[in-house]
Amino acid sequence: MAEPLPPTRRRSLPPTRPRIPGSGLAKGLAVTLRTMTKKSVTEQYPDAQPALPPRTRGVIGLFEENCTVCMLCARECPDWCIYIDSHKETVPAATPGGRERSRNVLDRFAIDFSLCMYCGICIEVCPFDALFWSPEFEYAETDIRELTHERDKLREWMWTVPAPPALDPGAEEPKEIAAARKTAEKLAAAQAAEAEPTEPADPQGGAS
Ligand code: SF4
Ligand code: SF4
Repeated sequence: MAEPLPPTRRRSLPPTRPRIPGSGLAKGLAVTLRTMTKKSVTEQYPDAQPALPPRTRGVIGLFEENCTVCMLCARECPDWCIYIDSHKETVPAATPGGRERSRNVLDRFAIDFSLCMYCGICIEVCPFDALFWSPEFEYAETDIRELTHERDKLREWMWTVPAPPALDPGAEEPKEIAAARKTAEKLAAAQAAEAEPTEPADPQGGAS
């Protein structure tokens, strides 16, 4: 049999108040009435689509053109759920006498979303901006193997990636946009120079 607690360790219970009959029912009804007058926050999904914030981590999109097959994302993924295959291709020299170059060509890029924990490390470490978050989340499958999305599927997700937010006023122009603008300006200047009519040659030889 358990020994009684010493007087210093006994918990003193609050004094009990006499209960009014029906007070519990009245409290319950009061809660019901309060809740009935509040606006409901329940989302009627799937009849109504939820309004998700733009940075929602739904699925990962691949912008294949930017991928250099550096393998950083696959190496850093804590779940090892990115599968990349590639081969090397020799690019002929751009100028006569120049050196041939070799480049990696992507054969397979897949992400297994049944293993992915949506940490975003692959997107953070990609040095070439080839991976992006899309807020799309409706890709549940009945077969777990279907959750491995191959490069075509990952490319499709890319078109659901929201546009980045506008820059702050006075912010520095992004390097890519500055480079593209300079190239476009050079091209326009070269085209304008080509389109300028050339002056006819002076029949007198031009000497005065
Ligand atoms: S989000 Fe995280 S777990 Fe998922 S593929 Fe990227 S690095 Fe791997
Ligand atoms: S880190 Fe980026 S560039 Fe490198 S393999 Fe992954 S997606 Fe491609």
